[in-house]
Amino acid sequence: MDIGIDLGTANTLLYARGQGIVLNEPSVVAVREGSRTALAVGAEAKETIGRTPGSITAIRPLQDGVIGDFEAAEEMIRHFVRKAVPGRRPRTRMVVCVPSGVTPVERRAIVQAAQRAGARAVHLVEEPMAAAIGAGLPVSEPRGSMVVDIGGGTTEVAVISLGGIVTARSLRVGGHRLDAAITDFVRKEHGLLIGERTAEDIKVAIGSAWPVPESEGAGQSPSDKGGGGRRAGAFEMRSFAVRGREKVRGLPKTVDLTVKEVRAALDEPVEAIVAAVRATLEDCPPELSGDVMERGIVLTGGGALLPGLDLRLTSATGIPVTVADDPLDSVALGCGRCVEDFDALQRVMTAA
Ligand code: ADP
Ligand code: MG
Repeated sequence: MDIGIDLGTANTLLYARGQGIVLNEPSVVAVREGSRTALAVGAEAKETIGRTPGSITAIRPLQDGVIGDFEAAEEMIRHFVRKAVPGRRPRTRMVVCVPSGVTPVERRAIVQAAQRAGARAVHLVEEPMAAAIGAGLPVSEPRGSMVVDIGGGTTEVAVISLGGIVTARSLRVGGHRLDAAITDFVRKEHGLLIGERTAEDIKVAIGSAWPVPESEGAGQSPSDKGGGGRRAGAFEMRSFAVRGREKVRGLPKTVDLTVKEVRAALDEPVEAIVAAVRATLEDCPPELSGDVMERGIVLTGGGALLPGLDLRLTSATGIPVTVADDPLDSVALGCGRCVEDFDALQRVMTAA
């Protein structure tokens, strides 16, 4: 039983060989102050964010792409592996995807956590590499492919060729920063206090990075996944009734937010992502940037679902941009490919 693990800052996914993705839960652990024992892990723990009594804290062990809390990270991995693959796990090989910003010490901690969860052998694969493989890019060919993986805590930009990362950047801007930008905007402009989960709801419902054209919302837009049947051009007209607590009087209050307002709120972190993509392109050897120019940039990670991000990047770089199919699954599917085709893909991984 070999397992691939996408240890994301927002979501952790497990892929079991021959089965596909078998677990997909938020990377959150709820602990009681002082005792250090996990009260809840994953979806159940995320429910508690912002709702816990003082004595319970909801921890994101991988907050900004670095492991902020080793014990919680270990507890989380162990819990998820047991849940997804119950029973004995003899001779399990694990391929774990780690954000490329993690330090050697953190790598060792992840390896240890995987071993304690029952791994016989642990192999690590860098997040942008896994994302590119999962998105179906020809990473082993002598041609440049560019992938931009926008997760919760980080965005990873990389140009890959011949099974290796040629040039890359990792910035601590991702979905969580977009949520925080909305929280700040609503507080400053409307005097309303909201929690991080409400901010995320607003982003997912009406967030965008560029005016969303009429043709989108007609069915091809990635943002339409699951939404179904939205009328063409209707996106720009949407609004969101936000409930929160009034800053001054402290009473509950509702405010209507427009698509334009939310786009303005998101502008700064979105621009940081755009700048990282441009800087990575500037670092790219000419032959490879020619390849990227021709073949385009592929977006993965949950942030790829932000409507108009593709258009914003195209307008900033002049390069076509596409969103991977099921961008939230790309990294896990890439880890999965490594597990299924271990020998062929061995060169993209590092053994621990
Ligand atoms: P990670 O790999 O760091 O765990 P993910 O790739 O799972 O992150 O992406 C999670 C992020 O994607 C969250 O910040 C979430 O708010 C964001 N996200 C999910 N769906 C959407 C959407 N439709 N629009 C914008 N952002 C989204
Ligand atoms: Mg990820």
